[in-house]
Amino acid sequence: MANEGKLPLAGQSALVTGGSSGIGAGIVEAFAAAGAMVAINYHGSRDQAEAAAGRIEAAGGRAFAVKADVAEEEAVDAMVAEIARRFGRLDILVANAGLQKDAAFAEMTLADWRRVIDVNLTGQFLCCRAAVRRFLEQEERPDLSRARGKVICVSSVHEVIPWAGHVNYAASKGGVMLMMKSLAQEVAPRRVRVNSIAPGAIRTPINRPAWETEEALRKLLTLIPYGRIGETEDVAKAAVWLASDESDYVTGTSLFVDGGMCLYPGFENNG
Ligand code: NAP
Repeated sequence: MANEGKLPLAGQSALVTGGSSGIGAGIVEAFAAAGAMVAINYHGSRDQAEAAAGRIEAAGGRAFAVKADVAEEEAVDAMVAEIARRFGRLDILVANAGLQKDAAFAEMTLADWRRVIDVNLTGQFLCCRAAVRRFLEQEERPDLSRARGKVICVSSVHEVIPWAGHVNYAASKGGVMLMMKSLAQEVAPRRVRVNSIAPGAIRTPINRPAWETEEALRKLLTLIPYGRIGETEDVAKAAVWLASDESDYVTGTSLFVDGGMCLYPGFENNG
């Protein structure tokens, strides 16, 4: 194996979009610990992204913070070019940046529909496209990884679970699922692997109202057979595995990291 005896992502260059907060920040930390050089994309949270890069560099790793709105074509292409300049190449993309703009369907504005689709779906398209272009044009490095490049889309259990009051979000994540699978099919012959992680309820700022009070958490736990909320580390460990040669035969798959949220918990007691 290419990485035998080494850290699983040793010497590889990774971009984590939305790396300034929550799940993305957890993946940044785990990737750096796994030996990767990490570009930490942010949009609004510059201080958090720069602080994370500073911690990684202070510990002897390589990282930098890079601002881009993932919904903007030019900004995404410039970000990937900047990573290639600073790290020499790009081996791993984690397309994680995402947001919610919730409303009852009849109240949902076109602006809120569009912004969620623009960031969560078009943003993943733009980042995947820029990364795949880079994977295909750069020198192959089988000493770093068996695959020519790896993409991990962060989708959601809502790529399969309908979600009233969040139709823009569920539509964006359903779109990510078939974008990921179609892209995986298209680039597998070029030895680029493309997968998704579909998190359930993970404790981050995006869903604070669902876990910050005891009552909200109790209600949330009725949806989680495994009986606990997820932590960012739960997702980060899966991301390290999906980015590494340990998962070299895995492509086109959604890995659900959800404590069983997709197991129809309403049927737990005989329906
Ligand atoms: P979070 O803590 O709110 O983080 C969201 C991240 O996305 C932030 O780093 C934010 O950057 C970034 N972002 C938002 N809009 C952006 C844009 N236009 N361009 C670039 N970056 C942008 O939420 P999270 O829970 O970690 O969410 C991360 C991903 O996991 C999302 O795709 C979300 O849908 C998915 N997810 C989360 C859960 C959960 O339970 N937490 C469950 C399923 C799926 P700035 O702060 O710098 O603006």
